[in-house]
Amino acid sequence: METNRALAEMIQASQKLVFLTRAGISTESGIPDFRSSGGIYANGNVEHYISRYFYNKSPKDFWKHFKEIFQLKMLGNYEPNNGHLFIKELEDMGKEVTVLTQNIDGLHQKAGSKHVLELHGTLRTAHCPKCKRVYNLEYTLRNDVPRCEQDDFILDTDVVLFGDAIKHFEEAIDAIETCDLLIVMGSSLNVTPVNSFPEYAKQSWNTKLAIINKEETIKDCYFDVVIHDKIGDAVINLSKW
Ligand code: NAD
Repeated sequence: METNRALAEMIQASQKLVFLTRAGISTESGIPDFRSSGGIYANGNVEHYISRYFYNKSPKDFWKHFKEIFQLKMLGNYEPNNGHLFIKELEDMGKEVTVLTQNIDGLHQKAGSKHVLELHGTLRTAHCPKCKRVYNLEYTLRNDVPRCEQDDFILDTDVVLFGDAIKHFEEAIDAIETCDLLIVMGSSLNVTPVNSFPEYAKQSWNTKLAIINKEETIKDCYFDVVIHDKIGDAVINLSKW
């Protein structure tokens, strides 16, 4: 509980907050993560199927695997949980909040967070690689292989695939540079470059850092406060102080 109290005090003392979130914040909404569930990654080859290489080589097969891996049909059914809502409530209290998320499920926006940078893009849209027209999820789900109505090109996803650069990199660094507190939620911090953001912030600007994750991460040593707990339980404990 001491660590919860320390984080609550850090939040109270901070005006500009940056949250860095990943798959672990959405598991309590029913969306499995990849690594801790022993599910999807246990099936091998996932990184191959959601790679730019595979899309370029075989876009028809890509869509089949992509829809299965991300359970695309289910996306509309998921609702934000207490973790997403906690972040939104801080905004309602007058804090300046930026959410940097590696998730592609849109749940921070559904919770009402206004300033969300989707570093890995989004499942909610796809676009035509030729004419750039954007299509919504409903359209993408209509046919097994979604094609552009105008020029019949197979659509490209708006999700960042393995082999693509992450989005909003500079904006993310700008937000971190000027924040009072960076809080990581639900991330194993094991994939570059985003997993270096906390240590970069600490070394460059001596930013205050906190992490809430169910399991230990390889980057825990950089954090001022480390909470190993489920996010839903941790945020309830935070509001007790
Ligand atoms: P990851 O390696 O960061 O693993 C998730 C981490 O969250 C684990 O360390 C786990 O211990 C922790 N965690 C799980 N549930 C938690 C909870 N309730 N409270 C606290 N911590 C919890 O991420 P990943 O699963 O390998 O995903 C990799 C990438 O795949 C993501 O960055 C994203 O692009 C994509 N992905 C997105 C979603 C989504 O949008 N919801 C889901 C799965 C994967």
